[in-house]
Amino acid sequence: METKYIFVTGGVVSSLGKGIISSSIARLLLSRGYRVTIQKFDPYINIDPGTLNPYEHGECYVTVDGHEADLDLGHYERFTDIHTTRANNVTTGRIYQSVINKERRGDYLGKTVQIIPHITDEIKRNVKSLGLTGEYDFIITEIGGTVGDIESTPFIEAVRQLKWELGRNALFVHLTYVPYLKAAKELKTKPTQHSVKQLQSMGIQPDILVLRTEKELPASMRRKVAQFCNVAPEAVVESLDQPTIYQVPLRMHEQHLDEMIVAMTGADASPAPDFAAWNTFLRKLSEAKDHVRIGLVGKYVELQDAYKSISEALMQAATALDRRLDLVYIHSEKLNDSNAEELLGDLDGAIIAPGFGQRGIEGKFVALKWLREHDVPTFGICLGMQCMVIEFARDVLGLESANSTEMEPNTPHNVIDLMEDQKSVHDKGGTMRLGAYRCALKEGSTPARAYGRSEVMERHRHRFEFNSDYLDRFEAAGMECVGHNPETKLVEVVEIPGKRWFVGTQYHPEYQSTVLNPNPLFISFMKAALDYSESKKSVR
Ligand code: GLN
Repeated sequence: METKYIFVTGGVVSSLGKGIISSSIARLLLSRGYRVTIQKFDPYINIDPGTLNPYEHGECYVTVDGHEADLDLGHYERFTDIHTTRANNVTTGRIYQSVINKERRGDYLGKTVQIIPHITDEIKRNVKSLGLTGEYDFIITEIGGTVGDIESTPFIEAVRQLKWELGRNALFVHLTYVPYLKAAKELKTKPTQHSVKQLQSMGIQPDILVLRTEKELPASMRRKVAQFCNVAPEAVVESLDQPTIYQVPLRMHEQHLDEMIVAMTGADASPAPDFAAWNTFLRKLSEAKDHVRIGLVGKYVELQDAYKSISEALMQAATALDRRLDLVYIHSEKLNDSNAEELLGDLDGAIIAPGFGQRGIEGKFVALKWLREHDVPTFGICLGMQCMVIEFARDVLGLESANSTEMEPNTPHNVIDLMEDQKSVHDKGGTMRLGAYRCALKEGSTPARAYGRSEVMERHRHRFEFNSDYLDRFEAAGMECVGHNPETKLVEVVEIPGKRWFVGTQYHPEYQSTVLNPNPLFISFMKAALDYSESKKSVR
């Protein structure tokens, strides 16, 4: 079958959930047995979101091949179990960088380099390069931003040209918003009509419209939108707010979205989708009654997208164990010795979050000391793991000035330090230790039992590392290295085996936790939290 290309655009307002719609389409096509991948174009000039503050852009997601990516790629992977790569997330910056590099090499043979055709050709090349691998039946390309933005115009122009080249093999899905005006008690389709007109004025006729709405759309309204926007009435699909984003694929399927895509693109016929595993997850999610209370200690508590993959991984693990997750965000800057009991006392488990820089770090030490001394299941991730090490050095090894050289470059006890090959690095973008690395696990340790394997591959995003000069002292005092990189010998996982569950990973297991395959380490942590919760009940 020829590769089919689906382009997902958005109009009216941002944050409508193009990523969720794209992921849902991918889930539906995968469930029908097609080979699918999803790509995102981000219309900003940063080369990748790796240099962006979480306040700007939420979490930075990391792919197996070490690309710092938009958080929508996290949605793609969680919905589909597909591993994305750097080819799946392209920014305006990357497109321009590549065109400018070609210009400097002289590849354009003296021509004036212009947005059309050079930038648009580069965009098209990035779409088609996924198709050329021959690995996919469908390539779903989500175009970030809102139609009409100056920023996204070259992308829209490029996909307009692609439609011309690809004919029936290309399909446009446009997502818009239908607001409900309380005072008038009416749903309003005018913004959708305008947004489609805008798209048409740029030469694109959407094939399918997905209307995001908070209230059910009457059939008459769908017919009206169809009429005004040149689409078939059945191609006007409603996307009503759902209790969970994971319901969206089913709602889309009920409205025949997948069937329509197959028919419109002329894809080979396929069996009806198999949702058995997906439905089991949804059933567990809605039926779970007993709660599990997990605290997430970090500095971006007002910004929950900053910890998206962690909160999702926790939800997946809790759901797999038939529990409802109560996730409490605890502001590390507000934690101190006098309120630790009050803020942490009722948790069944705690996560010490990843992060960069000094802000909020002292609160993480306060939390860690309290959690360690009260033997609460605790999971440190990346900076969280580094904080576990520093706190242990200070409190147990008596190295009061122990620190990471990230926080205190002149610390006499650099228990966390820059890797040798990082010392000469000055550029911030794309220069961390990024992507999947092997990790050998110590037999019998909590992670080895959790994964049921002696070696795993997990993804990294950091510059600093455990300083192995101190390892003997840590191990003698009870904090062990239970996971290391077999090539470089770097410490990847620490554990205090004497505790209920006290594990820190230099890597980010949350990036490889999906709805259908929750990460085993999160499952293990969650089991420990449930056991702890039970043990508290029996004491009472
Ligand atoms: N700031 C730490 C480092 O660069 C940890 C990074 C993280 O938590 N992702 O090593």
